[in-house]
Amino acid sequence: MVMTKQKERTDYRTVQTVPGRVNIIGEHTDYNGGAVLPALVNRSITVTVSLNAGERLCIHSSTFGETKNRPTRFSRDGHWSDYVAAVFAFLSDNGLFSGGADISLESDIPAGTGLSSSAALLVACLKAARDLSVFDVSDKTIALWAQQIENKFLGVPCGIMDQMAVALGEPGNALFLDTRTLQVEQVPLPDGHTIAVCHSGIQRRLDEGRYAIRRAECEEGKKLLGEPNPCLMGDETFERALALATPINRRMRHQRTEHIRVLKAVDAMRAGDVDTLGRLMDESHVSMRDDFEITHPVLDGMVLRARQHGALGSRMTGGGFGGCFVSLVPDNIFPRWQQLMNDDFPQITLI
Ligand code: ADP
Ligand code: MG
Repeated sequence: MVMTKQKERTDYRTVQTVPGRVNIIGEHTDYNGGAVLPALVNRSITVTVSLNAGERLCIHSSTFGETKNRPTRFSRDGHWSDYVAAVFAFLSDNGLFSGGADISLESDIPAGTGLSSSAALLVACLKAARDLSVFDVSDKTIALWAQQIENKFLGVPCGIMDQMAVALGEPGNALFLDTRTLQVEQVPLPDGHTIAVCHSGIQRRLDEGRYAIRRAECEEGKKLLGEPNPCLMGDETFERALALATPINRRMRHQRTEHIRVLKAVDAMRAGDVDTLGRLMDESHVSMRDDFEITHPVLDGMVLRARQHGALGSRMTGGGFGGCFVSLVPDNIFPRWQQLMNDDFPQITLI
């Protein structure tokens, strides 16, 4: 049972807009207690929720051009509306929602591309339900609930980065998140530079199982090492990690080196040292490519070209195996950089 503060119900209709996120650095560390550094993107999902007199959910998405009626009792059926239905099922199970609701979604976050449309949708629905209901919880709790919903109702074994990023992120700042303590710090994004997010055109889906395999490999590494947090392992444990059978040794190396890169990236951002920040992004991509093996050969080529055309750093971003890449580009070359990238890869979309 979820414990919440009680408040007066005041309204019957509410609108919530929540942006997507891009991860600047810190990939696959958020389920191992490591550090991450996401930032909001300029795209968002808007959820309108009205309470109705019935017992059902009427869910409309303009993105999918479809309306779906569902009972509040949840069963996952692989339809896009699972994500909305799961929120209301979670709330009903915890005694925080009863009756019916009309829910309508509008979004310009491309779904399934690593920009966390799922977390934005879940957090927006939970915030809307908080407006309309008798519970009052913090945005951090909303993020934790969204993760529980994604893990337990939707069967996606994601960490906590996405939900915290979209619930607590602020425009103009990156969110430095310690996923072990859930401490957050807003770190201003570098002046005079664009955090350019491009969709590679390669579709990915977390539920294809490859993400879950990486999680399982990390669990195996942790067990073999007797180390609950591979991001924070000391030198002696790291020596033992490198001696483990492949690929677990490389998975563990990514965990520790990626965590350290996030800490250095935060220092670089605070110091306005964009060259170091860019270099760390490059190193992160190499680690994802060679050690964690979550990139894609076509995307590797795009990242390489992004640098050749003047980005200070570039890396795949998100769960992996396709989706988006993020590049740090000086504003004064940005239009030319964008043109060159589009000429080389007509299939990419600038987010
Ligand atoms: P992402 O990387 O965008 O988070 P996910 O696979 O985790 O990708 O989540 C995508 C899912 O979120 C979709 O399959 C759908 O169920 C839901 N979703 C995202 N955007 C919308 C939308 N505009 N309308 C309805 N459902 C959406
Ligand atoms: Mg998602």
